[in-house]
Amino acid sequence: MTELYERLATRLGPKGYATDAADIAPYLKEWRGAFAGSTPFLAMPSSTEETAEVVRLCAEAGVAITPQGGNTGLVGGQIPEGEVLVSLKRMNRIRSLDAANDSLIAEAGVVLANVQRAAADSDRLFPLSLASEGSATIGGLISTNAGGVHVLRYGMMRDLVLGLEVVLADGRVMPGLKALRKDNTGYDLKQLFIGAEGTLGIVTAASLKLFPRPRAHLVALAAVSDAAHALDLLHRLKAATGAVAAFEIMNRLSVDLVVKNVADRRDPMPGAPMMALVEFEAASEIGFRDAIESAFTKAAEAGECENVLIAENAGQARDFWRIREDISAGHRPEGAQVNHDVSVPVSQTPPFLDRANAAMERACPGVRIVAFGHKGDGNFHYSVMQPEAMSADRFPGAALTQTVYEVATQLGGSISAEHGIGVARKSDLIRFKDAESITLMRAVKHALDPNNVMNPRVLL
Ligand SMILES: Cc1cc2nc3c(=O)[nH]c(=O)nc-3n(C[C@H](O)[C@H](O)[C@H](O)COP(=O)(O)OP(=O)(O)OC[C@H]3O[C@@H](n4cnc5c(N)ncnc54)[C@H](O)[C@@H]3O)c2cc1C
Repeated sequence: MTELYERLATRLGPKGYATDAADIAPYLKEWRGAFAGSTPFLAMPSSTEETAEVVRLCAEAGVAITPQGGNTGLVGGQIPEGEVLVSLKRMNRIRSLDAANDSLIAEAGVVLANVQRAAADSDRLFPLSLASEGSATIGGLISTNAGGVHVLRYGMMRDLVLGLEVVLADGRVMPGLKALRKDNTGYDLKQLFIGAEGTLGIVTAASLKLFPRPRAHLVALAAVSDAAHALDLLHRLKAATGAVAAFEIMNRLSVDLVVKNVADRRDPMPGAPMMALVEFEAASEIGFRDAIESAFTKAAEAGECENVLIAENAGQARDFWRIREDISAGHRPEGAQVNHDVSVPVSQTPPFLDRANAAMERACPGVRIVAFGHKGDGNFHYSVMQPEAMSADRFPGAALTQTVYEVATQLGGSISAEHGIGVARKSDLIRFKDAESITLMRAVKHALDPNNVMNPRVLL
């Protein structure tokens, strides 16, 4: 083994690897402390050629690899347990930007915020947006098929990728960096690597779609009585304005806990049972605000929403968004809890909340529920916390999780909308995904990585 590490070190040069425990430590711990691991060798290649050589040498030696980007993943897939850790952070160049083709090519280690900035500098938009955008990398976002707040308008990461360059499990390179909207030449191989969580190869660069930069923006908060009214409001706003870019909901407790546990936050709508945070964008200001105000007025007349606050400036819009972004920080200190990231068809969001809430209360009377997230695309972050009077060790978290997943799948949903499976949800995947799909996934894994070199403890 030492011989392998010596060869890797020689190939990568002094800036390209670390073996010292103190240097490696930050890469081995997930930010919340939920996952911690170990590695004998941290490789930090700076080019596709170096990455390919690292994989080839490891594969020849029969040594497994864990790829890592920004280390913001929430299911532990980026944390090694003895594998060679390959960080893509030094592959951080935007290789090219073709504004006339609405596309750019970024290396895997480019942080999302830098892609957004490069697009904006060319008067374009890269629409993927999530709270970890200052650290998450293009390679990680692709490998987890990240979602975020703009999915209902622009789709998931999968919908934003035109081409991929990937180092395969034996060190060969798939040079798929085309920037085409149309390419019907057989299997769309790039899609296999998107959402694969590093189990099929290492993404080294991606060709990404850009969009025209919207000129008009508006953020509004609406008080709604329940998820059914929120659904009606969503469809009215989409149809009447054509401009809905984000539609998030926050239940009462989610906002209460932000106010309680996060400094300097105040409740913008005291007493509202639920709030919808809506972001609109359009190519022009002409008629933009009028259309939105008129749609909200009609929604209020129809009883779909009550109070509506429209942000008058960027600062207010940011304050509205902060409440939403602080929800996780708000409920984290509230004792034993289980957190879920489920999706159902948008039409099924009201029955999901009704059934899941009722089932939680039946199983654990007094349980506290924070339900929030991307209602516009059917994705709830659904957190269940111990009753205040209960001791943490009596909280039946694992059983509650199974019930939440049962309710979601009975409604045609998924146990993981955007965070992935990683090491955290492997047994749930086997239980809740159909057996035929699992068999096909294993066949794909075996075809592309027969020696199980790539992230072997993850996903399957
Ligand atoms: C505050 C916060 C908010 C978040 N909000 C959202 C959200 O709204 N929507 C959402 O979808 N996610 C969200 N996430 C989750 C996370 O940011 C995403 O999963 C992100 O895509 C991970 O990117 P990363 O570069 O940090 O990848 P890492 O965490 O380093 O890795 C994630 C997975 O991808 C693999 N991987 C990484 N790079 C590569 C590569 N180049 N080639 C092959 N495999 C690779 C890893 O092995 C691992 O399995 C959030 C996380 C945080 C901390």
